[in-house]
Amino acid sequence: LVVLDGVQKHFGALHALKDIELTVKRGEVVVVIGPSGSGKSTLCRTINRLETIDEGSITLDGQPLPQEGKALASLRAEVGMVFQSFNLFAHKTILENVTLGPIKVRGVGRAEAEKKARELLDRVGVGHQADKYPAQLSGGQQQRVAIARALAMEPKVMLFDEPTSALDPEMIKEVLDVMVSLAEQGMTMVVVTHEMGFARTAAHRVVFMADGAIVEENTPEEFFTNPSSDRAKDFLGKIL
Ligand code: ATP
Ligand code: MG
Repeated sequence: LVVLDGVQKHFGALHALKDIELTVKRGEVVVVIGPSGSGKSTLCRTINRLETIDEGSITLDGQPLPQEGKALASLRAEVGMVFQSFNLFAHKTILENVTLGPIKVRGVGRAEAEKKARELLDRVGVGHQADKYPAQLSGGQQQRVAIARALAMEPKVMLFDEPTSALDPEMIKEVLDVMVSLAEQGMTMVVVTHEMGFARTAAHRVVFMADGAIVEENTPEEFFTNPSSDRAKDFLGKIL
């Protein structure tokens, strides 16, 4: 569904992505891990074209990523993204946060968008908060709204960039539970996370990055019990 082929990205003198080859199949859950600065966020950001690439190609469903205009806006709808910071619109209600994209970008009617939004908010466990503002919700609740907002666009793939790392421990599980259930429902997901429990239970594949390159790719069982590279062994030694 998502294919990165020979992707190179520089920030000035820094070679941030080095010849990245990555294929994410439909329904697959890929967890990306690696040390700080290894290029995990940059990788995610190239997939919905928040970052341009210098060389190589990225295709979604066989189509090259659009470069600008309306096509780019619809790409952003097809590639849902959830960040560490929740990025909700502070002056809009929870319901409005979720209906805005479908109404503006997808051209869905308000009544239909609201019905769908309420279903999604129920699904992530915040249906009763629909008329509140983001600041009135806990971090875990806001992050679940951010997930519902991305899902409202009916994305083909969901990207998560450390979605739980800004959360208090007691809120992490409620967000991970939503992500696990999405994975079980067959959503294609690329997840940058240090939550190894999530990687073990939900990932089909773990991709380990260091210094802008994919160093190792494996099933979670293999990766965690028998990492092949010294970089991965070293990293796992620090976090497990
Ligand atoms: P972390 O675990 O800390 O989030 P990461 O693996 O997500 O790290 P990236 O944010 O992708 O790493 O950054 C990779 C490298 O690219 C880092 O050295 C970072 O400083 C650099 N970088 C990222 N974005 C930019 C930018 N817009 N301009 C210049 N350098 C950047
Ligand atoms: Mg990052």
